[in-house]
Amino acid sequence: MSIVLPHIEALATYALGEQPPEGVPSVKLNQNESPYPPSPRVLQALRDMSEEELRRYPDAACVELRKSLSAKLGIEAERIFCGNGSSEIISLIFKVFIGPGGSIALPDPSFGLYHTVAASYQAASKAVPTREDFTVDVDGLLASGAKAIVLVNPNAPTGLLLSSGEVERLVSGFPGLVVIDEAYIDFAEPGASSLELLSKYSNVMILRTFSKAYALCGARVGYCMADRSLIEALEKGRDIYNVNAISRKLAVAAIEDAGYVNDTIARSNRSRSELTARLRKMGFDVLPSQTNFVLCAPPVQEGITAKHIEERLTEAHIFVRHFDHPRLRGMLRISIGTESEIQQLLSELVRILA
Ligand SMILES: *Cc1c(COP(=O)(O)O)cnc(C)c1O
Repeated sequence: MSIVLPHIEALATYALGEQPPEGVPSVKLNQNESPYPPSPRVLQALRDMSEEELRRYPDAACVELRKSLSAKLGIEAERIFCGNGSSEIISLIFKVFIGPGGSIALPDPSFGLYHTVAASYQAASKAVPTREDFTVDVDGLLASGAKAIVLVNPNAPTGLLLSSGEVERLVSGFPGLVVIDEAYIDFAEPGASSLELLSKYSNVMILRTFSKAYALCGARVGYCMADRSLIEALEKGRDIYNVNAISRKLAVAAIEDAGYVNDTIARSNRSRSELTARLRKMGFDVLPSQTNFVLCAPPVQEGITAKHIEERLTEAHIFVRHFDHPRLRGMLRISIGTESEIQQLLSELVRILA
């Protein structure tokens, strides 16, 4: 008899982007990480950590970071919850709101982690196909019969933004929890966020992370905003010290340097326009992205599939993402790198397609 619970044994390990071999210079465009360093203030905060801060337990309620977020966002601290990356909050959502036998619905394709975490909590996840052009089918989500709905907006890996009107139609038309994962919202057009819905609806939760725009993947800090009753429930379900003393300090320093993060976002978005235009010139079909990546389909060419291009790029130490998903097999997801990384990618693509 196995010691491991059957539903855990049956889990497929969550597929991550490939890690480049150590010591080899490479262009890593497969995990939507920031190509720029975090703010110099963040690095200073790291150097300034005192022995006391490491020796003592941190404040379990994470007050300082929540206050800092509260001031930045104009939302009461009581409506903010911080986690060890937004991935931890995704797990907590299942632990606290969905439970074994519960269910979520989410568009397909979208962020695969939700399916893996659902299965690990013995909950069902229903994939509601996006339309032919990858836009979200709000009516399909509303009709799914699931206990909760998850909307990644802008969506990953498509990069497409669902309009605030459509998001509100979803939230107002659904009695259960609607989680809006805004991991990429900093790269989207003004007015894209669903933050305003928080004051109108008590069934909405907005999830964000310091991993993408703030260049802090390694620190693992995420947060969510919702009605106080939902935040209180998450507080009950969390580990006591879920955000460590170092990471919370780095997040506060990152928030304080708003100018820096805004500059890197603007730079990334300029590169996104440039990359989109250049790829289209080469015959790629590129979805209009509101994120720090683009999803594109290479021009149809005898014997050259998207998978083949990904492999050829890997040989050249350029890492992009190909998904083994029926709707995505002919496509590649490319994270926005630095200007020079994008140049290297484009030159290699020219060689492969020649
Ligand atoms: C990157 C990402 C996350 C995970 O962020 P962490 O805070 O690093 O755990 C969550 N949701 C989406 C859609 C993402 O792309």
